Amino acid sequence: MHFADFSPYRYLTRTDVTAAHNIGWIEELSQLRIGVIDSLVPDLLERHYLDLVGNQTRGYHDCALCDETEIWIASGDQRIVLGAAELWIPDGDGDIFVAPDLVIHYIRAHLYRPADRFVSAVLRLPTTIPGWNGEHVAERLCARQT
Ligand SMILES: [Zn+2]
Repeated sequence: MHFADFSPYRYLTRTDVTAAHNIGWIEELSQLRIGVIDSLVPDLLERHYLDLVGNQTRGYHDCALCDETEIWIASGDQRIVLGAAELWIPDGDGDIFVAPDLVIHYIRAHLYRPADRFVSAVLRLPTTIPGWNGEHVAERLCARQT
C-alpha cells in the first residue's frame, strides 16, 4: 500500500482523518528517499512502540524492498513482528503522523530518510509520549469518520 507523504489518513475509513497524515508508506524502491538521520529515530520508535501502535487489524505485510520476512524488534520485554500495524505519532502541535510500523525497518535496513517534520516529531517523543495511546487515538479518530 502506498500513500503520498502528508496525505490525509484514510486507510480503514471511508473519509479522510484530517488530523492524521500519512508518512512512509513505501511500496517500491522509487518511493524510498535515502539519507542519514539521527539513529535515535528508529530507537525511539522501537522503545515507544507499544504506546504508538494502532490499527493492528491487518494481515502481515512483508517489506516490499527486500526479501526479509518476520522482521522482529524488541520493545521493553516484548518481541514484535513488524508488518501488521501502524504507528500513530503525535507531533506535539496537534497533528498526528501515521506510518506503517515497518518504517523502523525502512530506516535501519534501507537508510530511509523520512520527512523532516516526522523526524522532529519522533525526536520529541520523550516529551509528547506521556499519556499517549496510539491505539485509542486511532480508534477514536477512525470511529468518528466512519
Ligand atoms: Zn526491507
